Amino acid sequence: MNLQTLESVLAKDTFTDEDLLAFLSLTDTECCARLWREAYDRTTRVHGNALWFRGLIEISNYCIYDCRYCGIRKGNHQAQRYTLTPDEIVEAARYAVRAGYGSVALQAGERTDEKFIAFVEDVLRRIHRMSIEEGIPEGCGVTLSFGEQTEETYERWAQAAGNRKALRYLLRIETSNLELFNYLHSGKGGAQKTWPARLEALATLRKLGYQVGTGVMIGIPGQSLEDLVRDIRTFESLDADMLGMGPYLVSHGGDMVADGMMQKDALLTLTRNMLSATRLALPTVNMAAATALETLVTGGRTLGVLSGCNVIMPNVTPQRTRASYQLYDNKQGTESEPDSNVMLEQELEAVTGRVIGRHRFGSSLHFRNRSGLLAH
Ligand code: SF4
Repeated sequence: MNLQTLESVLAKDTFTDEDLLAFLSLTDTECCARLWREAYDRTTRVHGNALWFRGLIEISNYCIYDCRYCGIRKGNHQAQRYTLTPDEIVEAARYAVRAGYGSVALQAGERTDEKFIAFVEDVLRRIHRMSIEEGIPEGCGVTLSFGEQTEETYERWAQAAGNRKALRYLLRIETSNLELFNYLHSGKGGAQKTWPARLEALATLRKLGYQVGTGVMIGIPGQSLEDLVRDIRTFESLDADMLGMGPYLVSHGGDMVADGMMQKDALLTLTRNMLSATRLALPTVNMAAATALETLVTGGRTLGVLSGCNVIMPNVTPQRTRASYQLYDNKQGTESEPDSNVMLEQELEAVTGRVIGRHRFGSSLHFRNRSGLLAH
């Protein structure tokens, strides 16, 4: 597609599969820049100039699963396992609340035992109480990312989080290519995952009133551009409120080293094309610029914002455990202190022209449209 043809396609409001495929295929520097700019401008028109921050706390790296791509899979016996104490988690959340982020995101490897479920429940209650004490009358927003759980568990956590207006769950599908999905999730060391179970979990979360987020990895060995187009259509059919997507990065703690990974520059371009194509297809969702993008290239999250993302999840996990949450190799931010987030804020505002949206929940327009909740 040349620049002239691209301009005529970008003038449209809705896009066909062929249009999305053409966006993903772009490699010409000028054409790519034009696509990314269009996604940024549409984000501004639909969402305004705010960039929402979620303070990310990686509470534990124990996991019962064995996803091939993942550095903290159960079968990786080299991983140093940890679980933060409740006090550490609450203090990390307090840091995010005091920084004005308005929401925190809690993430861990997957566990489904009662001890873990009750632990999360307790921590959520404490974070809710703490954030009210810190001056947020309804309690801070919470995003959970603890994988597939039962309806009862999701409901327990929803009640403990305390603020249903800003209750979110991120559960990525990783890919809508079912053959590839099954390959990614067929490690030998732990429990197994299935596509129907993933869809059921997403539907349950939606039923319970969570703002539902999902996403995929971009550039997985064996993944085609047509797969990525199907991924976008799957986000649509799931009626997702939020998306979190990043480049596929190889992990030496995983079981896919022999499969290789895309060359860095090509992967960066494809990732930005995917973010922009998704923004054009799904204008009202919140879309996060992933840490994996920062790992691929310094300033990657900034490039994500310039390609249509409007959410950043800075890591506020205590320093002592950060290096142990290695989903992929050379993860960024494992050595930086929380105050480096101030530098991140300044860099993002200076380079992207966005303004950090402080002391607001920052829920997606997609969710606010369907729920009737007009305020952020
Ligand atoms: S991707 Fe999630 S569920 Fe799979 S092994 Fe890693 S932490 Fe566990």
